Amino acid sequence: MRTSSFFSKASGFLRSHASSSKLLVLLSLSSAGSFVAYSDSQAETSTPNLDLAQKDPKKKRIVVLGTGWAGTSFLKDLDISSCDVQVVSPRNYFAFTPLLPSVTCGTVEARSIVEPVRNIVKKRNGEIRFWEAECLKIDAANNRVMCRSNIENLVGNREFSLEYDYLVVAVGAQVNTFNTPGVKENCYFLKEVEDAQKIRAGVIDCFEKAVLPGLSEEERRTNLHFVIVGGGPTGVEFAAELHDFFQEDLVKLYPMVKDLVKITMVQSGDHILNMFDERISSFAERKFQRDGIEVLTGCRVLDVSEKAITMKNKAKGETSSVPHGLVVWSTGVGPRPLVRDFMEQIGQEDISAIFKAADKDNSGTLTVKEFQDVIEDIVIRYPQVDLYLKSKHLMDVTDLLRDPEGRERDEVDIEGFKLALSHVDSQMKSLPATAQVAAQQGAYLSHCFNRMEQCAENPEGPRRFRSTGRHAFRPFQYKHFGQFAPLGGEQAAAELPGDWVSMGHSTQWLWYSVYASKQVSWRTRVLVVSDWTRRFIFGRDSSRI
Ligand code: FAD
Ligand code: MG
Repeated sequence: MRTSSFFSKASGFLRSHASSSKLLVLLSLSSAGSFVAYSDSQAETSTPNLDLAQKDPKKKRIVVLGTGWAGTSFLKDLDISSCDVQVVSPRNYFAFTPLLPSVTCGTVEARSIVEPVRNIVKKRNGEIRFWEAECLKIDAANNRVMCRSNIENLVGNREFSLEYDYLVVAVGAQVNTFNTPGVKENCYFLKEVEDAQKIRAGVIDCFEKAVLPGLSEEERRTNLHFVIVGGGPTGVEFAAELHDFFQEDLVKLYPMVKDLVKITMVQSGDHILNMFDERISSFAERKFQRDGIEVLTGCRVLDVSEKAITMKNKAKGETSSVPHGLVVWSTGVGPRPLVRDFMEQIGQEDISAIFKAADKDNSGTLTVKEFQDVIEDIVIRYPQVDLYLKSKHLMDVTDLLRDPEGRERDEVDIEGFKLALSHVDSQMKSLPATAQVAAQQGAYLSHCFNRMEQCAENPEGPRRFRSTGRHAFRPFQYKHFGQFAPLGGEQAAAELPGDWVSMGHSTQWLWYSVYASKQVSWRTRVLVVSDWTRRFIFGRDSSRI
């Protein structure tokens, strides 16, 4: 009785004096700072408003779609004193996706990497309203979004619509199956928290099934054949996690089938981790070879059935079919239909508008001089042009105007101009689909909102092509802080700014400290670090729940 009252008093004290709890954790963790860190201190919460009506008509109405990296990072620094913010997302939590592969094998628990949106809203003094629903359609013409709750069988209407002055679309992407037959039905994905939980149960199922009596050795082998399609960072990290789970924990629990387990990675390119430095991708390939993870490069998956995966070796032109126990599909992402529909509605910036603005004498062609006059603004508006020029070692932007055979031209017409810019666009991949990019974009946008009045008076952006004047804000510029690739066996590879590459055990410790520090709240930071500690001491939990 006395002990329990001591604990309740102590926890009450820690919750109401969050800074003390922070200090406690600070002592045990040296690294701090994060992409999207929320202060854990509690704010006085005003009574939440459940009505859709605007609270203060003078405030600008902002609707935010999504509570992922971009959406949450946007909310973090937004000055809400002058806006009425409503957030819509079918997930009432933020997920720290870089640790999802660790959830697939129970290295980290799912609940340790998520932060409830309600916690975030509460910390903003209850000023931000959150609706757990999915946006079905954006009506750009009428500044309205149509939403529907995914909760079924409850009393009341599931659909509602919201009006906005500003809409922040941060709904992320969806898995891309490239319309490969059977993928949706027979593969696991690794995109959401639920996916990671499904994989965790699926892996254990494979082992339990493989040890049932009455199976032939071939059948046991098939159940224990894990195939990962896609040799990008997510696929590689999952393969490494799975290999560790098996080597460190499952081999002791299922010794009778230890020689029958096989992990295969199928990659369509020539190397795995091909977006990383060459040194990292060959280090990873050598490590996987030592670990017995088979890497099939230059292979394209044609079809996945319940029992087998069919692929084609691009160089040899041969097609083969391999039986599998579990396939994880991790080949990248594509836009959601909601976003595609929205982009069609608003249209994209028209190259002909830029051309018209540049063609001062209305001759229908651009001279080199006219092109030079406009290119500075083009480079600010489309930073990829500058990157393209640097990557091609083109000293002079007018080199863009050379004809397809590389000969200099004095003038270029609209078609040639379009070709020059579209060539840049197709050669430069758009920004990588990473949390780093999304979080920076969210922060950039909140910064714009916070300085809206100031920048309306003194615009700081590039020149407008469709009308006169300048854009209010400078366009988003991405800063790359490097990237990690955990490779299992307490080894990782990292590519850091300044062409610095680091690989091995020490890099894994760097990974631990960076990912502990990047957690969004002290609560999740403590949970993640304690999960790692638990795993070191007791191993991973193989219960199928
Ligand atoms: P998300 O974070 O996906 O958020 C989208 C939000 O929109 C979600 O809240 C979703 O519920 C909501 N939403 C979806 N549809 C609707 C709708 N119709 N209406 C309203 N809301 C909607 N990046 C890194 O930088 N480093 C890493 O180590 C890394 N590891 C990764 C590992 C895995 C397994 C995965 C899957 C991704 C990883 N990424 C990593 C990539 C990173 O997670 C994404 O780039 C990032 O999540 C993109 O952020 P976002 O805000 O655009 O989308
Ligand atoms: Mg002209």
